Order: sequence, then C-alpha cells, then structure tokens
Amino acid sequence: MSSQIKMAETPPGIEGQGFFATSLDSVVGLARKNSIWPLPFATSCCGIEFMATMASHYDLARFGSERLSFTPRQADLLMVMGTIAKKMGPVLRHVYEQMAEPRWVIAVGACASSGGIFDTYSVLQGIDRIIPVDVYVPGCPPRPEQIIDGVMRIQDLIGKESVRRRNSEEYKKLMEEYMIK
Ligand code: SF4
Repeated sequence: MSSQIKMAETPPGIEGQGFFATSLDSVVGLARKNSIWPLPFATSCCGIEFMATMASHYDLARFGSERLSFTPRQADLLMVMGTIAKKMGPVLRHVYEQMAEPRWVIAVGACASSGGIFDTYSVLQGIDRIIPVDVYVPGCPPRPEQIIDGVMRIQDLIGKESVRRRNSEEYKKLMEEYMIK
C-alpha cells in the first residue's frame, strides 16, 4: 500500500527551505495561552471544585496549566475561588499587585463574582470592586467543566491580546480606576 503513495512535485517557484509568515502578536499569544501558570486563591468551597479540576479525571494539565504557583511573582493567572471577606480584600489585592504583567484574573463562582449568597456587611460583593477581572465563572459551586471553560475563555483572551495592550492608554486608565500602579 505504501508503495502506491507518491510525492507530488513541488510547484515551480516554491522550491527551497520552507518558511511561514505570521505576526508577533500571534506567536506570543500562542505561547502565552498554552503555558498559563495559575495562582489558586481558594478560600472556601469553590476551591474544592478546583482540586477536582486539577485531578486526573479533568486534568487541567491538558491546557498547559498544571504548574500551579503559590507565589504571585511566578504566576500570570489569578484564580479567585471562594468567599472573600472584606478583611481578606487587602490581602487579595496585595497578591494581585505582586504579580508581574501580563496578568489575568478569573472570578470562579458566585462568591468571588458577586458575593454570592453572602449579602452581608462582612463579605466583599465581588472581587472586581478591588481588582480588575477578565472572566467570571458562574455557579455555586461551578462544576469542573465550567472552571475549564473559564480557563479556555482566558486562553482566547490571551491568544488575541496585543503585546502592546499593557502599555496602552486604555489599560493605564483601567489601572488608575483601581488605583493600582
Ligand atoms: S460560590 Fe457557592 S460553592 Fe463557591 S465559595 Fe461561594 S458558597 Fe461556596
């Protein structure tokens, strides 16, 4: 059978070493989106769902994100999972500020996104009150499939992000709104 397979002749004008052309944004985006290093900031039950997401059945490693970071300086994706008390707010913000650019944030679950069922004086009603959020994952708790979907949405954002975005006026304005230097 293999003897029947023949190589076609190269069309004239395209001989020589192969090459391809692309944009710097696409290459950098491709590398970044497939090597995300998450920092799991898990304060309550949603964190358990994240543990399942990391385990062998769901296996977040398939997306190049098996290398969790417990130091903000070596992470580029902050995953906030759980209820964030107002007392915890400054700690979360401090962790975010210690992450190097480019950095992204996912709010996993109702509590991180909006305070969830804890509409009380002591609970932060959504982490976007103190840090910018890129993707919100709904649910109480979200299933591992939803967390994976959130990571894939982040991958889409990262893959399409311009390498110049972090220096843009729009981004600087966003940081100013949050009073982050
Ligand atoms: S969203 Fe639900 S499951 Fe997640 S931390 Fe809040 S109460 Fe727990």
